[in-house]
Amino acid sequence: MHDFFNVQDIKDEYDIVILGAGPAGLTAAMYAARDKQNVLVLEKQFPGGYVAITEWVENYPGFFDGIMGADLSEKFYNHAVKFGVMVRNGNCTKIENDGKYKLVHVENRPNPVKAKVVIVGFGCEPKRLDVPGESKFYGRGVSFCATCDGSFYKDKVVACIGGGESAVEEGAYLTRFASKVYMIHRRDSFRASRTAMERAQANPKIEFITDSVVESVNGEMKVSDITLKNVKTGETSKLVVDGIFVFIGQTAKTDLVKDLVETDEWGFIIADESTKTSAPGIFVAGDVRTKEFRQITTAVSDGTVAAKNAEKYINENF
Ligand SMILES: Cc1cc2nc3c(=O)[nH]c(=O)nc-3n(C[C@H](O)[C@H](O)[C@H](O)COP(=O)(O)OP(=O)(O)OC[C@H]3O[C@@H](n4cnc5c(N)ncnc54)[C@H](O)[C@@H]3O)c2cc1C
Repeated sequence: MHDFFNVQDIKDEYDIVILGAGPAGLTAAMYAARDKQNVLVLEKQFPGGYVAITEWVENYPGFFDGIMGADLSEKFYNHAVKFGVMVRNGNCTKIENDGKYKLVHVENRPNPVKAKVVIVGFGCEPKRLDVPGESKFYGRGVSFCATCDGSFYKDKVVACIGGGESAVEEGAYLTRFASKVYMIHRRDSFRASRTAMERAQANPKIEFITDSVVESVNGEMKVSDITLKNVKTGETSKLVVDGIFVFIGQTAKTDLVKDLVETDEWGFIIADESTKTSAPGIFVAGDVRTKEFRQITTAVSDGTVAAKNAEKYINENF
C-alpha cells in the first residue's frame, strides 16, 4: 500500500470518484476500472474499512479456514490496484453539483476533484456504550457483531446489550453457540416484535435482565465480568460473562451529503438494490445504504451493482 499516502498525484478529474475504501468501495473500484473507467478512491483512514480492524473473518466465501481481516483487506486493495485504480488517503468534506459533474472536496486539497459519478461507500458505525473497559476489551470479549464473532463463544456465557429487535434477534442467534445469553436492557420492557420476544422467551438459554445498564466491562487480558447498575434501585452487581455483544443501534455519518441525497432518520442513504440515490450521478454502496443485512458479502454485492450502474449512467449522460 506504498502509494496510499502519495496524494500529490491525484488528478483534477475522474470518471468515477469513490468515497471510502471498505469492501464496498474497493469492489466498486475494481469493477469500474476493469471496465476501463478512470477511478479514484478516497479513504480518510486506511484501506479495508471495518474489515481491516476485524481480527478474523470466517464467513467470506473462498476462505474456508477463515482469514485475518487485515489480510482480506489487503487482497481487496491489491485487486483494485491491479486494474489501475488509484486509492489515496483523503477525507471527503463536501460534494457539490457542477452541471452534469460532481465536485468532491478533499481536506487539505485546494481544488475539488471533478467526477462524472460519485459512489458513496462511507460505511456506518455501531453505537457504543461509552463505559470503562469497552474499548480496552474490543476484540477480546467485546463485540458489536454476532454473525461475525458468535462462533468464538461456543459453550461460553455472554451478555447481549440492547432492547430493540436486532438485540433480541442477535441474542437468539448467539444461543446457537453460547451456553447462556443474558439479555440486558435499561428499560423494563423490550421494544422487539412480539414474535421475536416470544421466541426469545421460550429459549431456555436466554435470561432477561431489565432496568439495568452496564457500568463497566472488567477483566485482566480478556473480559471476565461486567458491572451492572439497576436504574430503579441504584444497586450495582457483578455478572460473570466471557463476552458482551452491544446492539444499541448504528449510525451513519452522512451530514456532508444530506443536502444532496435523501437519508433516513439515522443518516443512512436511502436506495434500493440498484444503489441509485435520489440524486442522479450519486450511487451508494455498502453499510451506509438503507438495507437489512450489513456484511462484507452484502457490501461487495452493492459495490458491484454501483459500478455497473455508474457505467450505464456515464454512457447515457456523457
Ligand atoms: C466489529 C465488527 C466485526 C465485523 N466482522 C465481520 C465478519 O466477520 N464478517 C462479515 O461479513 N462482516 C463483518 N462485519 C461487517 C463488515 O465489516 C461490514 O459490513 C463491511 O465492512 C461494510 O463495508 P463498507 O465498505 O460498506 O464499509 P466500511 O468497511 O465501514 O468502510 C467504509 C470506509 O469509508 C471510509 N470513510 C468514511 N467517511 C469517509 C470520508 N468522508 N472520506 C473518505 N473516506 C471515508 C471509512 O474510513 C472506511 O474505511 C463486522 C463489523 C464490525 C463492526
